[in-house]
Amino acid sequence: MAYKTTNPYTNEVEHEYPQASDADIEKALTAGYALYLKWRNGGELEERKQIITRLGQLLREKKHAMATLMTHDMGKLIGEAEGEVELCASFCDYYVKKADEFLAPTPVYTTSGNAYVLHQATGVLMAVEPWNFPFYQIARVFIPNFLVGNPMILKDASNCPTSAQAFANLVKEAGAPEGSLTNMFISYDQVAAVIADKRCQGVCLTGSERGGKSVATEAATNLKKNTMELGGNDAFIVLPDADIDKLEKVIFFSRLYNAGQVCTSSKRFIVSDKLYDEFLKRAKKVFSSVKMGDPMDPSTTLAPMNSKRAKEKLQKQVDTAVANGAKVYYGNQPVTDQEGQFFMPTILTDISRDNPVFDQEMFGPVMSVYKYHDVAEAIDIANDSSYGLGSTVFSENIPEARKVAAQIDTGMTWINNGWASLPEIPFGGVKHSGYGRELAKQGFFSFVNDHLVYEAEN
Ligand code: NAP
Repeated sequence: MAYKTTNPYTNEVEHEYPQASDADIEKALTAGYALYLKWRNGGELEERKQIITRLGQLLREKKHAMATLMTHDMGKLIGEAEGEVELCASFCDYYVKKADEFLAPTPVYTTSGNAYVLHQATGVLMAVEPWNFPFYQIARVFIPNFLVGNPMILKDASNCPTSAQAFANLVKEAGAPEGSLTNMFISYDQVAAVIADKRCQGVCLTGSERGGKSVATEAATNLKKNTMELGGNDAFIVLPDADIDKLEKVIFFSRLYNAGQVCTSSKRFIVSDKLYDEFLKRAKKVFSSVKMGDPMDPSTTLAPMNSKRAKEKLQKQVDTAVANGAKVYYGNQPVTDQEGQFFMPTILTDISRDNPVFDQEMFGPVMSVYKYHDVAEAIDIANDSSYGLGSTVFSENIPEARKVAAQIDTGMTWINNGWASLPEIPFGGVKHSGYGRELAKQGFFSFVNDHLVYEAEN
């Protein structure tokens, strides 16, 4: 596959990168493994904390320049890209503050002898990451693992190579030794070869269910621990007592942020029949007031999709939905006044459960709206999904919202809010949305060897 930056606003190919050789991979594995041997017992933690502190400073100093690279790679709005860089810097702050506490040995209570658990590195990791948040996706796996002592080989999406290389360059500039994070333009087969190598001891992937299955199969074949952060078809349940004005304010962020290309975007709005008609009116108001245009212009509110291929795939899904009985409440018209890969925000209703798109992730600015009468029905629709990443419950009655939240089969639920990602909050899903967690303490421990030491009583 070709690694290149094709700006989805101008459709111009801005950069192309040659594929790495097997010898380059061997070099990265050798350098990474040598670091692991130095770091596995907690060696040089202070130095690594300083490097991550410096990385946070560099991210903040170069925020606009880094954000611009992401906008050129995959089209996101410059303001959203700057927010992403700032979020990555906050991961640096959080993990530097927490590293000593997380890595301190844990005493184990036993009635005989003395026991404790050391928290050690496991080896080189293979990270496979997507294009939708080019910096954030790398940061959330690299930063904690660098502090743990796990060096990383990165295979990022083939359509955002410039951002991936820029992130790796910043890590180097922050003072990280060679092998700490090696960004590589490699093929799927080369990813499989890294996973099979005995120096690699873990695999983390964020991406689609399809990509996840392939890479998880390689990991399983080689008995390598892995975490999978996959797609979602997140439900947003609007309870009958929701405040519709407050709700209107979160519709944009929940569905249209990043042109709707967020794994945890709310994709299915499941609305009480008491509010259904009003909800549709408000959603249309929000969807029809977006401004498409140059993502570098701060007044633009809807970015192009990341690629022509992604736009075509989404259009096919909308066409399938409609061919199978869904109604277009708003949108689904070609965008003719822009050159870039824009998709008109679209609202679909009347998607029956046997419609093929009912159980598909639509990764772009398309909202599906369902009507329910009883709350039990809303929960049933929400849970009738192969996916289980995030969900939202919107209500003025917080105890009731919490009761509903606890009944949704997802890894995360937000109450009265769209999705959120913060360093201290664990992130991940269940069912076909994957397994394992990133961020927070849970993410920090994904590739830690909890090494028991037991001293017998004599
Ligand atoms: P994708 O096609 O699975 O690609 C993701 C990454 O996996 C890319 O680097 C891709 O490389 C690589 N890849 C795919 N198949 C591979 C294989 N067989 N061997 C090795 N590498 C492979 O996913 P996408 O469509 O670009 O990303 C969007 C998806 O990610 C959505 O489903 C979204 O919901 C999900 N996502 C999930 C989370 C989460 O935390 N759960 C967060 C963000 C996004 P190439 O680019 O070279 O194909």
